Amino acid sequence: MKKVLRFFSHIFGFEKLSKYENDYLHDANIRSSSYMGFIVVMLELWMLIRQFYSKITPKLQNGGNFFELLVKYSSKYWLFLLIGLGLMLFCLFYQRDKKLSKGKFITLITVGGACILYTVMLSFENFTRVSETVTPVMAGIMNAMLISIYVLLFFIGAAIVTYALFKYLKNKNIVVLEHVVITCFTLICLAFGIFVSYSDFWGGKEIICFLTMVIYVGCLLIYRPYVTVLILGASFLGFYHILLTFEGGLTFADQEIVISGVTRSIISGDSVNYLTFFISLTTICFAIYHGRLNEAKKSKALEKSAKEDGLTGMYNYSYFTELAKDGIRGLTGNFDENVLLFIDVHNFKAFNDQRGFEAGDKFLITIGKYISDIFKGSLCARQADDHFVVWTKTEGLTQKLETLNALVHDYDDEILLGINCGAYHLSGNDEDPHMAIDRARYAEHLISNRFQTIYIEYDKTMSEEYRKRLYVINNIDNAVENGWIIPFYQPVVWSDTEELCGCEALARWKDPTYGQLFPNEFIPVLEEYRLIHKLDKAIFESVCRDLREALDAGRPVVPVSLNFSRLDFELMDAVTELENLVTKYNISKDLIHVEVTESALTDNFTKLNQAMNRIKELGYSLWLDDFGSGYSSLNVLKDYQFDVIKIDMRFLSNLENSEKAKTLIDCIIKMANRIHMLTLTEGVETQVQAQFLNKVGCNRLQGYLFGKPIPKNELYVRITNGELTVSDRRL
Ligand code: C2E
Ligand code: CA
Ligand code: CA
Repeated sequence: MKKVLRFFSHIFGFEKLSKYENDYLHDANIRSSSYMGFIVVMLELWMLIRQFYSKITPKLQNGGNFFELLVKYSSKYWLFLLIGLGLMLFCLFYQRDKKLSKGKFITLITVGGACILYTVMLSFENFTRVSETVTPVMAGIMNAMLISIYVLLFFIGAAIVTYALFKYLKNKNIVVLEHVVITCFTLICLAFGIFVSYSDFWGGKEIICFLTMVIYVGCLLIYRPYVTVLILGASFLGFYHILLTFEGGLTFADQEIVISGVTRSIISGDSVNYLTFFISLTTICFAIYHGRLNEAKKSKALEKSAKEDGLTGMYNYSYFTELAKDGIRGLTGNFDENVLLFIDVHNFKAFNDQRGFEAGDKFLITIGKYISDIFKGSLCARQADDHFVVWTKTEGLTQKLETLNALVHDYDDEILLGINCGAYHLSGNDEDPHMAIDRARYAEHLISNRFQTIYIEYDKTMSEEYRKRLYVINNIDNAVENGWIIPFYQPVVWSDTEELCGCEALARWKDPTYGQLFPNEFIPVLEEYRLIHKLDKAIFESVCRDLREALDAGRPVVPVSLNFSRLDFELMDAVTELENLVTKYNISKDLIHVEVTESALTDNFTKLNQAMNRIKELGYSLWLDDFGSGYSSLNVLKDYQFDVIKIDMRFLSNLENSEKAKTLIDCIIKMANRIHMLTLTEGVETQVQAQFLNKVGCNRLQGYLFGKPIPKNELYVRITNGELTVSDRRL
C-alpha cells in the first residue's frame, strides 16, 4: 500500500524534491517562459498589424479620431504585447545568484514601469466593454476576466520592478517574485484563451485560440503534475461549462443551441475530442515534468561529483576555491574578520602505517565530520591527503580549534594525534584564494612538527620567506633550464689515510635574484609541492656530465654520491632515469653511489622496495643516509641490502664529553660490520672526532674538517695543489 502511495505521489509530483531539483525545474521554467514571452510578442505584433490594416486605417480615412480608434481597436493587443515583452525580458535577464548589470537593470525597470503605467492609465478609462457578448451574466464574467488581466499585469510590472531593484542593489535572490511573474502570466494566458475562444466560438469560429494558450501554459511551463491537472482540468472544464451551461446545460448528447438567433450545434463527438485533447495534453505535461526531473537528477549527480571530495563528502579543493573566489569578491569592509585556515593532521602518517589504509580513510572521514560540525556555516573542504581548508570568521576561532584538536587527539589511545593549523586573515587586496590558502599553509608548515602548538597566524614578517618559497615553486623549471641548479662536491675520505675516496653531490641554486640558495631553502619546499624530482634529475645529469668531462680531460675522478628523495621514486622512474644518464655519458657504475635517507624507507611502499632492489641488481652501491637521525628502525637494515651506512652527524655533537655517544657510535659500527655493511660518519669537524672514528673502525669520514661542499673547479684545484690526495683504493 505504501509503495502504491509512494508511486502515485511520485507520478503526481507530491514528493519532496531537493533544493537542487527545485532550482533546476525553476530554471527550466524560466527558460521556457522566455520562449513563451517571445511567442506572445510575435502573436500580438501580428494582431496589431492586422488591426491597423483592417480596422484603424479604413476608419481613419473616414475621418475618425486616431487616439480613440487606437484605444478601441488595439488596447487589448497592446496589453498582451506588454505582458509578453515583460515576461520575455524578465526571463532573459534572470540569472540565479548573479548581479544585474546596469543596462539590464534599466531595461527591466522600463518594461516593469510601462506595465504599471499602462494599467494605471487604463483604470481611469472604461476599458471593460465586452458588448458583443450574448448574455448579461457572461458579459459580467468576461469583464471580470479583463479586469483580472489588468490587475495581474499590474503585479507583473510591480514584480519586475522590485526584482530589478533588489537584484541591482542587494544582489539578493528573490525567487518568490519569479514565481509571481510566472503564475500571473499563466493565469493571464488562460483567461485570455477562454475570453477570446468564447467570443470566437460565439462568432461561429473554432476554439483554437484557447487551446493554443492552454498548450503554452501546460507544456512549456513545468508545474508539478498535480498542479498541471488542476490548471488544465479547471480550464477545460470551465470552458466546457461556459459553452454548454447557459441554455442547454452540460450534456453529452448532440444538441443545438440557439442564442440571439444564432444556431450552434454541438455534437457529442466534439466533447469526445475535447476529452481526448485534455488527456493527451495532461500526459504530455506529465512526461515533460518527469523528463526534466530525471535531467535534474543526472545533472545533480554530475555536479555533485565535480564539487565533492570522494572520500569525506566535503567540498573538494577546486570547488572550495571557486566559492571562495566569489566570496572574496563579494566582501565589503571588515576583511580582517575573515580567516582562511589550513589544517594538517599531526602524525596521520604514523596512524596510517600502524592502523592500515582503511582505518586511515575512516579517520579522515571522521575528521571531515568534526570540521564540518565545528565550523558549521563556514566553508569547509578537504584539500588533499590529511589537509583540510576552512574559510571562517575570527570569532571563537581558537576555542573551535582546541575542540577539534581534542577530538582528534582522543581518536586513538596509543598514537599521538592532533592538528596543526595555519591561518591567514584576508585583507582588502586579496583576490586569489589559492594565495591565501598557500599563506595559511606556509604558516602551518612552520609548526607542522610541533605537537604543542596547534595554531599559528601568518604575519607580514613571514612574507619574505614565503615569497622565497613561492619563488622556488614557480621557478624550478626556469632554474633547471637555465642551469641555476648545480652540484657542489663535498670530499669524503678514508678514515685511516684521510685520502679522498669520494664526494657527495649537494645541490646549490645560483639564483639571479636571490644569489646562492641552500638546500634547506628549496629541498623541503620542492618536496612539499612534489617537484623535487625535477631538481634531482638536473643534479644527476650535471654530476654525470662533470664526471665525463673530468674523465675526458684525464683528470683523476672519485665516486660521487647522489641524494635520492623518497618522492623521486614516486614522481619518476628514478632508477631508469639514472640508468639512462649513466649510459648517455658512459659512466662506470662504480662511480655512482645512491644515497637514500632512512626516513624514506620506513613506509611500506612497494615501488620503493622494488627500486632499492633494482639499484642493487644494476650494480650501484646503495648507501643509507642519515642513519640514526629520525625514528630509527633497525628493520630498514634487515630489509634492505645496503653497502654503506652514513651515520648522522648528530651523534658527533658533544662527542668529546659524552661516553654514551662514543659507545653508541662504536656499537653502530660493530653492528654494521657484523651485517657486512661499511660505515661513514658525517659532520666530522675536529681532529679528535676523526681520530676516534678511525680508532673504532669507521671506514669513511665526511665533514668540514676535510672540506665543505665546493664547486667542481675548486675541488680540482684542491686536488692539483695537493691539499687533497686521491686514493686509488676502492671497496
Ligand atoms: P645530507 O645529505 O645529510 O648532506 C649533508 C649536509 O651536511 C650538507 O648540507 C653538508 O653541507 C652538511 N655538512 C657536511 N659536513 C658538515 C660538517 O662538518 N658540519 C656541518 N655542520 N654540516 C656539514 P647541505 O648541502 O646544506 O644539504 C642539506 C641536505 O639537503 C642534505 O643533507 C640532503 O638531505 C639535501 N640535499 C642536498 N642536495 C640534494 C640533492 O641534490 N637532492 C636531494 N634530494 N637532496 C639534497
Ligand atoms: Ca646525503
Ligand atoms: Ca646525511
